[in-house]
Amino acid sequence: MKPNKLSISIMNGLIESIDNSDISEIIIDGTSSCFENAYIIPGIVDAHAHIIGLGENLNTIRLEKAKSKSELIQLIKKIDTIEGWITGRGWNEENWDDKDLHRLDLDSISSETPIFLVRVDGHAAWVNSKALEVSGINNLTANPKGGSIQKDTEGNPTGILIDNAIELVRDNIPKVSNERIKKYILDACYECLRNGITEVHDMDVHLNHLQAYKELDNDNLLPIRLVQYIRGFDGEYKQLQPRPYFGNNLQIIGLKFYADGALGSRGALMIDKYNDAETYGLELISSDELSERASEGCDNGWDIAVHAIGDKANRNVLDVYQKLRNDNYKNILRIEHSQLVHPEDIKRFSDLNVFASVQPIHCTSDKNMAIKRLGEDYKFAYPWKTLLDFNTILIAGSDFPIEAHNPFFGLDSFINRKALNEEETWQKQETLTLEDALNSYCYTPHLATRNSNSGSLEIGNRADITIIDNDLNQSNNIKNTKVLATVSNGTLTKHL
Ligand SMILES: [Zn+2]
Repeated sequence: MKPNKLSISIMNGLIESIDNSDISEIIIDGTSSCFENAYIIPGIVDAHAHIIGLGENLNTIRLEKAKSKSELIQLIKKIDTIEGWITGRGWNEENWDDKDLHRLDLDSISSETPIFLVRVDGHAAWVNSKALEVSGINNLTANPKGGSIQKDTEGNPTGILIDNAIELVRDNIPKVSNERIKKYILDACYECLRNGITEVHDMDVHLNHLQAYKELDNDNLLPIRLVQYIRGFDGEYKQLQPRPYFGNNLQIIGLKFYADGALGSRGALMIDKYNDAETYGLELISSDELSERASEGCDNGWDIAVHAIGDKANRNVLDVYQKLRNDNYKNILRIEHSQLVHPEDIKRFSDLNVFASVQPIHCTSDKNMAIKRLGEDYKFAYPWKTLLDFNTILIAGSDFPIEAHNPFFGLDSFINRKALNEEETWQKQETLTLEDALNSYCYTPHLATRNSNSGSLEIGNRADITIIDNDLNQSNNIKNTKVLATVSNGTLTKHL
């Protein structure tokens, strides 16, 4: 697979003909659109991301960028009041001259509307007097277990709440309305479309949000295909969505579980101790419990996706999957992240027919942190080429909004494997060819969803197509690729 100049004609949402051409052209039901200096690839899939998270991000003002208290106050003035509250996230007073934070600072913005602002690390909140008042917090309120209400010398709350004290206020914020959730979903989907993404595997979808997705899909308003994996760990789905669901552009097909945490916070579960701490990481679910919940899910027709970052977590999940295969389950099984895989476990992915769902950009964002956690000698991190060499099916995503949703950043990481602001390729032996990288973004994700008429430009296939200004032959220029237009399910959207 590589970008080509093609003329593609589309009828009723399906590809009707494909020809080589001097100029890229899309003909829909007889109407032609030409694109100068443009190249065509099948529609890009993001095989692990969070749609509502991106929608929320697009609708919030990022407070991280405030470099002083007064800058923060100016930013907050721009935040829309939703359901009677002003909420925000990301403030960080670390480098401010004035680190003295008080509810009165926020009262200057509004004394009538409650204001609730979470610190960048999520461990503190800064609120105004109105938020304290509606939450019933005053000079007599005792600290909750695991939390503290900061008070001044006279014993009055300052408006700074730590850890579990944050919940005393958060519990009073009205739930986001269905209409608002729909706005988040649509904003995120259109943002994907602008970036050439025609399908997202939407992970950890909250059961409370399924209704909004289904309503949008019933009204045929989803501009890209969403394939969803709902939270499986608490078993709540058995009441609310007991079986998979297939709509127009919405498919709810999988259960998502967590085997361990993240590498940065030393939550990834490792076979050997961390290089920089006396810990092996965290096991978030026992193999017995995962085994039980996964086979119960399989019995009800669900595919299974398990988050595993550490090499021990990957091994544990493969053990569980081995059991499922021994019990003759044919369901799709995937490991989300597959970041650190012991060489003895690599071959088990293809033996057990397990998809490795990887996010290449995590590697280039986290390289230096990973070396600290694992030590210089650790050789099994982000083993893309090794997995491929053992016939594993790699599917690629970004994990947005945790990372950037631009898929060309991920393609660049696959091919160049260079950490941010570094010129040197890290572990060149694990880089991918352009062909393999594109395959993991455009073709193989459809194998994980059984949508067999997608992923390649062939007559009769669903017309999901990305049109770009770059033939991707210059590896140093992949990041700068512009998406000129996207065809999703036979509908053309031009972006420039
Ligand atoms: Zn994720």
